[in-house]
Amino acid sequence: ADALPMPKSTRIFTVANQKGGVGKTTTTVNLAAALARAGARVLVIDLDPQGNASTALGVEHRSETVSVYDVIINDVPVAEAIQKSPEFAALYCVPATIHLAGAEIELVSLVAREQRLRRALDTFLDESPEPFHFVFIDCPPSLGLLTINAFVAAREVLIPIQCEYYALEGLSQLLKNIELIEKHLNPTLSVSTILLTMYDGRTNLANQVAQDVRDHFPSEVLNAVIPRSVRISEAPSYGQTVISYDTNSPGSISYLEAAAEIARRGAPA
Ligand code: ADP
Ligand code: MG
Repeated sequence: ADALPMPKSTRIFTVANQKGGVGKTTTTVNLAAALARAGARVLVIDLDPQGNASTALGVEHRSETVSVYDVIINDVPVAEAIQKSPEFAALYCVPATIHLAGAEIELVSLVAREQRLRRALDTFLDESPEPFHFVFIDCPPSLGLLTINAFVAAREVLIPIQCEYYALEGLSQLLKNIELIEKHLNPTLSVSTILLTMYDGRTNLANQVAQDVRDHFPSEVLNAVIPRSVRISEAPSYGQTVISYDTNSPGSISYLEAAAEIARRGAPA
């Protein structure tokens, strides 16, 4: 593979869409793996109580594991919760455990409840002896305090969109919420990247939705499109990303292309 340009300072993405099942987690872990494979140092923060990103990356996330819950609620340093991926040398994950399900409520009464992830992450990145190139935060399918923490900690939002009929409907609500965050909590946030997922080019509907999304967001939508692929959906049950599970499959290649595009485009101005 050709070398990809690496960012000078850490690019922090929140992968968000309040709809479930659109490919947030799949996109998070596979882009992270693709970039790590290209030589980047990458951190995934699993912010969904389901812990699917932790599962797909093959890291421990039993209930007693030190996790993102301890970071956000108990002020445990990120460095104490971080685990190394068994697949890629420079890929790391802060796992989510079942405890995170209670965090949404526990956060309500905490000081600086919207800023807790940002503070922990900034401290970690500042103190890290080797810089990270990319951070991806995998969000739950809701717009609660966990997702707000992710928006406040990030500089870029990556929205995966499933090519189906209702795709654009939920999007305007999401964009309104992101605008509110920009205005009140994080002026540096921008929607830099939109990725079309679970694309089935044989259907007119998928083509129509893809065209609509490109018309609305000409500079955000990546050229790479993620096809519907059984190999992509099988990989997590082996604790793997499709990048290592079946490197040469169309699904893996599409994520490698998307990752290369993200790296080449660079951070938004
Ligand atoms: P979310 O995190 O938005 O809820 P997931 O990434 O967990 O969505 O994806 C939902 C389901 O769809 C999972 O079972 C996943 O394995 C499957 N999936 C995701 N992307 C694809 C794809 N491109 N092709 C086939 N199945 C996919
Ligand atoms: Mg998910």
